[in-house]
Amino acid sequence: VNFSVQILGSNSASFAYGRHHTSQVVNHNDNLYLVDCGEGTQIRMAKFKIRHSRINHIFISHLHGDHYLGLMGLLSTMHLQGRKHDLHVFGPSGLEDIITLQLKLSDSVLNYQIHFHAIMPEQEGVIFEDPQLEVEAICMEHRVPCHGFIFREKPKKRRLMRNKIEGEVSGELIFMLKQGQDVVTQDGRIIESSLVTEDPGAQRTYVYCADTRYTETHLSKFKEADLLYHEATFLSDMAERAGETYHSTAADAATLASKAQVKNLMIGHFSSRYKTLELFLAEARQHFPKTVLALEGETFQIGSASPALVVEHVSQDVSH
Ligand SMILES: [Zn+2]
Ligand SMILES: [Zn+2]
Repeated sequence: VNFSVQILGSNSASFAYGRHHTSQVVNHNDNLYLVDCGEGTQIRMAKFKIRHSRINHIFISHLHGDHYLGLMGLLSTMHLQGRKHDLHVFGPSGLEDIITLQLKLSDSVLNYQIHFHAIMPEQEGVIFEDPQLEVEAICMEHRVPCHGFIFREKPKKRRLMRNKIEGEVSGELIFMLKQGQDVVTQDGRIIESSLVTEDPGAQRTYVYCADTRYTETHLSKFKEADLLYHEATFLSDMAERAGETYHSTAADAATLASKAQVKNLMIGHFSSRYKTLELFLAEARQHFPKTVLALEGETFQIGSASPALVVEHVSQDVSH
């Protein structure tokens, strides 16, 4: 099952040096989840050939503009292009008011239904689940209510090896075999689950930490995550400013990754004061070697063993 994240934008506050506002697409088993939707997100989606008709769930971390100002444009385009199927939007409680007011004042009625799922300021816990995946909201420490999201695979069933099964076996018994139970068939044969099914692989976890100052509150939840995305707005020379503005440094992100023993770290949400990003990587890797930059356009596999997570490289100039 594919589990990956593609970066659409990874800059904070304002556009700079070809870097765009925060947005990313999590792909789990070909279900696409949009996480944050900074201004220009729909244009970035077009550039990277992501069809917005495939997005059915949008998660907004907080109501700072660099994380949601692209939402109204995207919703409008979905309407204009004939979307009919429902859309689920998870975000801070004021978000529904903002969208509803804009629609009302432009006398617009969308062709499709939006289901708003308000996340209250102190709310934590699972906010979405389907048979394969759940999304848990966690509180960040930021100037306004802000949530991070943990995308966690549910326990998987064992995979059936059809060619190892002889004779008639009912659907009910197949179900039990996939659960790891041995069964007895109607004609009295014993089938051992371990002989006809194989290990489904580990449950994988992706953690998205939106804007936050350094905090170890959720350390136990991040333990051994396959991939932790953490904001790194500043370098350490601006640590004081990071604290004042409720943001983190590259060293903060990497220290947290190290303490949580995550498998890989990706840093993003870079301040526009920095022209290039090499120093972010260097600073983070001093504390946590398996760090990569959230470079726009790139897709990272979740659960890949290697620190070189990149599976797709869309050429982009981050050095000008
Ligand atoms: Zn931000
Ligand atoms: Zn913010």
